[in-house]
Amino acid sequence: MQECIFCKIVKGEIPANKVYEDKNVLAFLDINPRSKGHTVVIPKKHYATLIEVPKDELEGLFGVVQEIGRKIIENLDAKGFNIGSNNGQMAGQVVPHLHIHIIPRYEDEKEHYGFEAAFPVKEELKNNLADVVKKLLETGGAKEEEAPEHEEPKKEVEQKPEEKKEKWHFLED
Ligand code: 5GP
Ligand code: ZN
Repeated sequence: MQECIFCKIVKGEIPANKVYEDKNVLAFLDINPRSKGHTVVIPKKHYATLIEVPKDELEGLFGVVQEIGRKIIENLDAKGFNIGSNNGQMAGQVVPHLHIHIIPRYEDEKEHYGFEAAFPVKEELKNNLADVVKKLLETGGAKEEEAPEHEEPKKEVEQKPEEKKEKWHFLED
């Protein structure tokens, strides 16, 4: 079987525009940028998806995602960024080595779309939320002792548009 392309980048067998590296994590520019500064952050160890990563390795990985996000705002003058990770073929994952995309967003873009462009709201699913909550609260395939602790879910409170805007203020100044 051909070796994973991101493992080859980790080993230095193929070049990449690296923007961060430590013992466990590597970040480099995506070869097909979806905006200026589009970066992928990967664990150096080969894990196919997020599911396989030991929990104690996630802090380091997402700490780098946070740091690159900050640099994108401060050094590239982006006004925001999207993070995303395709997990599994059905989710559009092409490279089977976990990676987190960071896609900077700029003021002069024509469309300031978020999730809606990729995942339009499915109105019919709004009637079925309780059933989904019930399923997600089941321990399912996870072993009992490994199941995450959870509190009773709080009832969702609809945010007013001005409250949502407030949260994003720090990216606009
Ligand atoms: P996925 O669709 O699996 O979430 O995204 C894989 C990403 O890896 C794509 O955005 C693709 O452009 C990027 N990619 C694939 N091969 C290479 C490569 O050799 N170098 C770099 N820098 N990016 C790559
Ligand atoms: Zn790999």
